[in-house]
Amino acid sequence: FQARRIGTDILGYAAADDPYKSDRLALLGEFRKAIQDGQIELYCQPKVEMRTNAVIGAEALVRWRHPRLGMISPSLFVPLVEDTELIHVLTRHMLQASVRQCFNWQREGVYIPMAVNISPRNLLSHDLVPNLETLLHTWGGSPDWLGLEITESSLITDPDESIAKIAALSRMGFRLFIDDFGTGYSSLGYLTRMPVDVIKVDHGFTMRMLEDTRSAAIVKSTIELAHNLGMSVVAEGTSTKEIWDVLTEYGCDEAQGYYVAEPFPAAEFGAWLKVTGRCTRAHLLAQSAAG
Ligand code: C2E
Ligand code: MG
Ligand code: MG
Ligand code: MG
Repeated sequence: FQARRIGTDILGYAAADDPYKSDRLALLGEFRKAIQDGQIELYCQPKVEMRTNAVIGAEALVRWRHPRLGMISPSLFVPLVEDTELIHVLTRHMLQASVRQCFNWQREGVYIPMAVNISPRNLLSHDLVPNLETLLHTWGGSPDWLGLEITESSLITDPDESIAKIAALSRMGFRLFIDDFGTGYSSLGYLTRMPVDVIKVDHGFTMRMLEDTRSAAIVKSTIELAHNLGMSVVAEGTSTKEIWDVLTEYGCDEAQGYYVAEPFPAAEFGAWLKVTGRCTRAHLLAQSAAG
């Protein structure tokens, strides 16, 4: 099978006459072994505080370096994996890799948290909280090493249970993000019941906002809504200086996107900071304390 066929047909996933079903099942069948063989890699993308330009975190993004198909994007395989119990294997792998990476960053003097994507099935699983506790204990870490990005669509299957889980994670001290905000068809009312810290504006809205006044209105209103609820906002898809400037005007707190950096291997973070001459927020705080 070919990656292109899998890719082009992922949108027709639910179609009854689905000609590429066997291709996708084959790819899924290779996934567990791909993890064991080290084909599943940890990439990351920095998040920057717009007011100070300081790096305040990174998002963990998975990449599959397939021996025959080359680099496969998560938008091709994560939706498949998310539909099965294999999502627990992927999330455990990403959490482990991220905590190990934080440990290594700290040895290089880089102090930033890594935010890991948590799928709806993960959130509802009884293993998530104990797994996180064990993982941090193993590496001598604390909850401020990790952020957790929870997609808005998690709230659809079992809203009460999802909110209870989110509250438990918040009490443990993790920074919590609502991911893909505005695309999950959930009721805004849930925001009043959820102790999340940050809303992530979906990159679709951010990337269209200069041409499309309605997308711009959604971005602007989301920022106001978040601030009125005592939350902050990250704009995903901050891909150009023009977008950055409008976001600044709207009072957006944090930016993530190609204008700052495209995703790159997480192990290269220290080198990326050096090359770009950027500071982390921890650096800025240390500087202002010293002088
Ligand atoms: P997401 O969680 O919303 O992650 C942000 C995506 O937007 C990333 O795509 C990132 O590269 C892309 N992006 C950010 N800024 C820009 C920009 O300025 N321009 C463009 N063109 N794209 C931008 P990526 O890495 O392909 O990931 C796609 C999605 O796959 C993620 O969306 C997330 O839903 C899922 N995903 C990725 N890694 C994981 C993972 O480890 N676990 C789970 N469950 N899902 C993951
Ligand atoms: Mg995310
Ligand atoms: Mg998103
Ligand atoms: Mg997402």
